Amino acid sequence: MSFESLGLMPELLRAVADQGYTEPSPIQLKAIPPVLAHQDIMGCAQTGTGKTAGFALPILQMLAPQQNTSPSPARHPIRALILTPTRELAAQVEESVRGYGKHLTLRSTVVFGGVDINPQIKDLRAGVEILVATPGRLLDHVQQKTVNLGRVEILVLDEADRMLDMGFMPDIKRIIALLPVQRQSLLFSATFSDEIKRLANQILRSPISVEVARRNAPADLVTHQMYEVEAGKKRALLTHLITSRDIRQVLVFVRTKRDANHLMRELIRDGVAASAIHSDRTQVERMKALEDFKQGTVNVLVATDIAARGLDIELLPFVINYELPYAAEDYIHRIGRTGRAGSTGEAISLVCPDEQRMLDDIERELKRKLERLPLPELAVSRSSSRHAGERPSAPRPSSAHKPSQAPRSRSAPKSHTHTPATSMSGGFDFSKPYEPKPTDGISVTAQSLIQHIPRSAPSARRPMAALLGGLAAKKD
Ligand code: AMP
Repeated sequence: MSFESLGLMPELLRAVADQGYTEPSPIQLKAIPPVLAHQDIMGCAQTGTGKTAGFALPILQMLAPQQNTSPSPARHPIRALILTPTRELAAQVEESVRGYGKHLTLRSTVVFGGVDINPQIKDLRAGVEILVATPGRLLDHVQQKTVNLGRVEILVLDEADRMLDMGFMPDIKRIIALLPVQRQSLLFSATFSDEIKRLANQILRSPISVEVARRNAPADLVTHQMYEVEAGKKRALLTHLITSRDIRQVLVFVRTKRDANHLMRELIRDGVAASAIHSDRTQVERMKALEDFKQGTVNVLVATDIAARGLDIELLPFVINYELPYAAEDYIHRIGRTGRAGSTGEAISLVCPDEQRMLDDIERELKRKLERLPLPELAVSRSSSRHAGERPSAPRPSSAHKPSQAPRSRSAPKSHTHTPATSMSGGFDFSKPYEPKPTDGISVTAQSLIQHIPRSAPSARRPMAALLGGLAAKKD
């Protein structure tokens, strides 16, 4: 099947060809025809399956008859509203919409919190046909009367399960109440819990169910390895892995923001160029951390789970779980957020005795045992005797540390620097007010994304590849 056979207009076919897509992905094959037929959709697909084009292409086509170049804002009412849980995903989706719509004159913009609202107001006042938004900031605009949702014809709820997890249900309901009753609604979710089904029942009308398997079975594409290591030796082991395997870009997950900051500083002390990404850092700091990481001036990005949501980064062959997540599902998310079909990856976990219960849960969820690797001999450094979760005795330096000041920054060669097909214009953002409920006192877990440079070391056993396929779909 080709994009042509889906009935897409020439402008969209050109844009798709510009992106280098040769054939539609399964979700695109299944979703594009019914969306073009104005039907509601309940789509079960995770990020990375190509679902953005699955809804963006038909939306652009349906709105194309109204495209115009008039400077009058009245000629550019918001006709499609796309809601996403995180700012990063919002930025990514809007960038995709812009890319797919580059040969049309439809306008789009993105609004999310944590950044100056005024440029967003300016864009909204000028008029846009397609608005991508996170719920909280959209409601800020509603309150300030800087957005009018009265002409919305198409609503998309992207990653609906994440939105509910993050406590957005009341916001979503308030937003939906502002939309015309006559509209087309598309709901995408990686899982379909009872709550999602209830939401779908409320907002969708005779929806078509569209489902695709998760991109890759982790068992096939990701090797799950672990070291049994005392908490106090984790950092030395991490530094050893990074240096001995010549890992140039690795996403390292921890459980809390505090641990992320602490580990970042410890790594820098070890001579590793590291940065951290989590919700206590400002938007500017997060964007800088991501950019430095992508450019290779930072080799290690220490992250919490929230910070990695919605990320779709190609060529991410390694994820290191410095601390296991409390919820086994987060392990799946950590390794399943990025990557490309057919790519392989490695998930390496550093597991201390206290984490046995979490390990059991993960192995149960994965339906397989993580491969135990023998602990290498470690040179225990001055400050490696403290686990990231333990508090330092001295006051911490500011979290706004500049990664580029790392004592030994190993810049990745340009040729290895990978730019994702759908790059993120705004960097991540997952911050307050969008944190999940701190049920266990730890509101943010670490997650990581990694990019890796082909290893020249003899230890390079596996092909470089994108990581993260995602695991077998969770049955809710
Ligand atoms: P998404 O699930 O929408 O976040 O898309 C995941 C990635 O797949 C993005 O980097 C897209 O650019 C890419 N992509 C989407 N559709 C296709 C396609 N038909 N062929 C190849 N890549 C695609």
